[in-house]
Amino acid sequence: MLNFFYRIGEVFFAVGRGFHPPPEVSYLSPIRRGAETPPYKTSKTLLHGIALSSLVGLFILWLCGAAAAEPSVSLIAVGDIQLGRGVGEAIQKQGADYPFLKVAKILRSADITFGNLECAIAEKGRPIPKRYSFKAAPASLAGVAKAGFDILSLANNHSLDCGRSALPESLAALEKYSLSPVGIGNNAQEAALPLIMEKHGLRIAFLARTMFAPEGVIYREDAPTVAMLEPEELIAEVKAARKQSDLVVVSLHWGIEYTRQPQEEQRRLAHRLIDAGAGLILGHHPHTTQPVERYHGGLIAYSLGNFVFDAATPRANKGLMLRCILTKQGIKLAESIPTVIKDCQPRMIKNGTARRVKPRA
Ligand SMILES: [Zn+2]
Repeated sequence: MLNFFYRIGEVFFAVGRGFHPPPEVSYLSPIRRGAETPPYKTSKTLLHGIALSSLVGLFILWLCGAAAAEPSVSLIAVGDIQLGRGVGEAIQKQGADYPFLKVAKILRSADITFGNLECAIAEKGRPIPKRYSFKAAPASLAGVAKAGFDILSLANNHSLDCGRSALPESLAALEKYSLSPVGIGNNAQEAALPLIMEKHGLRIAFLARTMFAPEGVIYREDAPTVAMLEPEELIAEVKAARKQSDLVVVSLHWGIEYTRQPQEEQRRLAHRLIDAGAGLILGHHPHTTQPVERYHGGLIAYSLGNFVFDAATPRANKGLMLRCILTKQGIKLAESIPTVIKDCQPRMIKNGTARRVKPRA
């Protein structure tokens, strides 16, 4: 490398000599005076050479730095998106874009936008008769796609609310709108597979699991299913996914509904997942927001709360948009932006401040 700079310096030294006539006054020290070439002839040209070669050196260093600059990807993650029931009625009246109108701009600004789709997508499929059964029309996904979403976790307790027979319809609708599902599949093995996304030269693996099985569907490994959370298996899968990617994101549908803090057991598992190689953990299900924690260079959002929902209680109307920059070295910047749902539409809280997520000691 030094030799390379030396050569470059030589070239510019020559160029400098060619362009600048010998000066009248020498700027160099008397040491050069005894040289064969009159000192005043070489002195300024040497200065030019040094200056130019330094400039070139700096330029090349800058180029090398720019080339070596780590690739980065911006990601926005939100919690539960439920497009059935009251939200479905609002969509019917106001159109598929309606739920996202107040936040689409920021959602679209990210390279990757992620959410948890907390309903079945079906036209024909019938909702399973149970207390909460969420079904949304395939056309409602047009609004989700237009709002900038790329990846949706379907590993939750509502994505099979129309039974497993409706899954092919849901998957076809997601594909139609170029939305990538994760955490669901035609069998348990398929549901557990990581979704690998490549952006700006960064390979990001997404895994999604649910702690809660869909009600009214008997679990079968060989039939359409969501990916169930098995801690030891997931730790092994995170390790495997890390080997084939630069960063691993784990979506977890977990926790106790309407609580503000995660369980100690959740913290322990989240820490183990980070230690196994996960960079980011995105939690949801409690319908309330919970802390975002920095741990060993990774980031854990225990619960992002509700994003689009027709919840009856004000406490279930809050959510977090987690915005972060992903790099090969992990999460560079992270901030959580609070949202509140009004008339089925999330909006950024007025005067609400985005919080920088500080490292945990
Ligand atoms: Zn849930």
